[in-house]
Amino acid sequence: MSSAIHKCPSCGANLTFDASLDKVSCDYCRSEFSVAEIESLHEKEMQKEEQYDSQTHGYHCQNCGAEVVTDTETSSGFCYYCHSPVVFSDKITGDYVPDYVVPFKISKDQAKQAFTKWVKKFKLVPKGFASPEHLEKITGIYIPYWMSDAHANIDVSGVGDVITTRNSGDKRYTTTKRYRFQRSGGISIEHVKTIASDKVNQALINSVESNTKGKLEPFSTAYLSGFFSQRYTIKREDVRAINEQKTKDYVEDLVRRQIDFQNIQFERNHKDINITKWSYILLPMWILTYNFKGKVYVYALNGENGESFGELPIDYSRLILHDVVGFIGLLTAALIGGKFLW
Ligand SMILES: [Zn+2]
Ligand SMILES: [Zn+2]
Repeated sequence: MSSAIHKCPSCGANLTFDASLDKVSCDYCRSEFSVAEIESLHEKEMQKEEQYDSQTHGYHCQNCGAEVVTDTETSSGFCYYCHSPVVFSDKITGDYVPDYVVPFKISKDQAKQAFTKWVKKFKLVPKGFASPEHLEKITGIYIPYWMSDAHANIDVSGVGDVITTRNSGDKRYTTTKRYRFQRSGGISIEHVKTIASDKVNQALINSVESNTKGKLEPFSTAYLSGFFSQRYTIKREDVRAINEQKTKDYVEDLVRRQIDFQNIQFERNHKDINITKWSYILLPMWILTYNFKGKVYVYALNGENGESFGELPIDYSRLILHDVVGFIGLLTAALIGGKFLW
């Protein structure tokens, strides 16, 4: 076995070679593999990586640090995020091949229309913000996410109350019955997502991302044609704890909804969560940024369902202008009034 093979194909944790069994096993998800299986999986991964590297190119923006790739046919001379000039380079290496992608459903024209409609609601935005030249810079970009599937073993028990009230004449009777409950079983929690890039405005992306219900297609570089893709900058290992917590919260909520009692007190509250699969996925987003007085403002539109969110640059010089116009108007009115008084 080559020294590069150390990751579990299911969950990505480190593998251990057990010489006595001639097997490789994962301490985390307890999967077992033969050496041959691991070798052939590794071979396939390498092929996928080579193909990906030869069909894509990308840039590293010197100004904002964005790491972006696209297919070799697509190019633009500027960084999608900060609009600095960039030069594409052919060398992209590393473990960056996505597993799945949610393709774009919203076209560039539809995205532009949505932005124009949105921006019309606001006054005091800088003139350049809604100009056709600026609008042309709207970029379709895939945002990277780590997605996990998990299995949870649940074993909980405790007590809870059922409280009923009834009125009789002018009296009100409350009855509290206490019940014992026990729930146990296994459940699969799939598609828990966490953003894999710190080079994008996370709060903004999260607000648009949460509603993506789109069908995941196996990745092909064909999906990149005309679009860009942000490379992950946060490693899978660094989101493991986050995804485990998200899964746990979800299970917690599910269990509570299963127990239809009030004043729940757990005596045993055991939830064993195992991540069984990791995928590196791309979600589609139309992004338009605007650099105003040293700050980058972002407008984002979910490329699948059209939900949008934006930060608004406010041009206070236009606000002052409005006030001045108003003031002059008032002054003139007063003077005219004054004339009549005289
Ligand atoms: Zn594993
Ligand atoms: Zn940049």
